[in-house]
Amino acid sequence: MIVVHSPHHILHNPPKEFISNHIEAYGESPERAEIILEALMDNPDVELTRAEPFDLSHFYKIHGADYLVYLQTAYDEWVAAGLWSEGIMPEFFALGHMRNRPPSKSPEGKAGYYMTDSCTMIVKGTWEAVKYSGFTALTGANYLLSGRSSAFSICRPPGHHAGFDYAGGYCFVNNAALAAKFLQDQGRTEADGDVKVGILDIDFHHGNGTQDIVQHLKNILLVSIHGDPDYSYPYLTGFESENTEKNVNFALPPGINDETYFNIFRKAVSTLQAFGCNYLVISLGVDTFEHDQLGNFKLTSAIYCKLAEYLISELPIPKLIVMEGGYNIDFLAGNVMAFLTPFLETKTL
Ligand SMILES: [Zn+2]
Repeated sequence: MIVVHSPHHILHNPPKEFISNHIEAYGESPERAEIILEALMDNPDVELTRAEPFDLSHFYKIHGADYLVYLQTAYDEWVAAGLWSEGIMPEFFALGHMRNRPPSKSPEGKAGYYMTDSCTMIVKGTWEAVKYSGFTALTGANYLLSGRSSAFSICRPPGHHAGFDYAGGYCFVNNAALAAKFLQDQGRTEADGDVKVGILDIDFHHGNGTQDIVQHLKNILLVSIHGDPDYSYPYLTGFESENTEKNVNFALPPGINDETYFNIFRKAVSTLQAFGCNYLVISLGVDTFEHDQLGNFKLTSAIYCKLAEYLISELPIPKLIVMEGGYNIDFLAGNVMAFLTPFLETKTL
């Protein structure tokens, strides 16, 4: 199995975040990608490869131009204005009608316009890391186009909370949507019809950014299984009442176990089968694990292998796995490996 990674992710290493009323070490740490890579490094069924650069025009197909310019210039502008050189953390947030106006010209005002929370920070190397995280997803997608049945992109920073024109939840560029749009544009169907791409988001948190972006795209369906937003980040999106022909949400209460989760997972997969996708992008988060500090499900490691086996048998189409969340460093690599093992064991191209 092809596994794509990039050393650039270490350039994004924010010192801290503000969460639940206190400052703490940044949860989305470089160590996350490093331990996953380490676990895969000596596996004889893994073909490790580095992300290739792509034209940035792909990014502009899923994000607003002004937002992408902001990501590229924000840190320098912030420091040039004499602000805190450690990084950008918003001090206010543009709510409701405020977002109908153009952003303020001040660096503080722009931060509050383009960022949605105080647990996401932009530092000096953020754009370079974000850009290569997107390239990591695109490189994996490109392997599917060249005939591979699966690929795993160790994207960091993650992407599913990044919307059309905003960052949040540790995310800046939406890697899953980027790959899905690329596959939809560049892929082929046997009958030369429209290429359909499914995105299956199994991170604990609702992929609010992906939901936002897919509303603007054709022939892409997002199916997301996540914690009920009444109890979990991002709090105000991810309800089943938001379902459209572009996105289907399964919002689950705290304490979900393997058996209940698997029953819902089967429904999610049958939704994708009915859509009839030609490619599948999986937003893989293992913060659904029972001991993850940012989730409230009670899933065990054993379920991840079962989910992957079911996907392989029920959706026999090319699959790109894109890394999203998972924050318990002691279990992160093991749970990712549990999900990947059925893909490694199929030994298909
Ligand atoms: Zn998450």
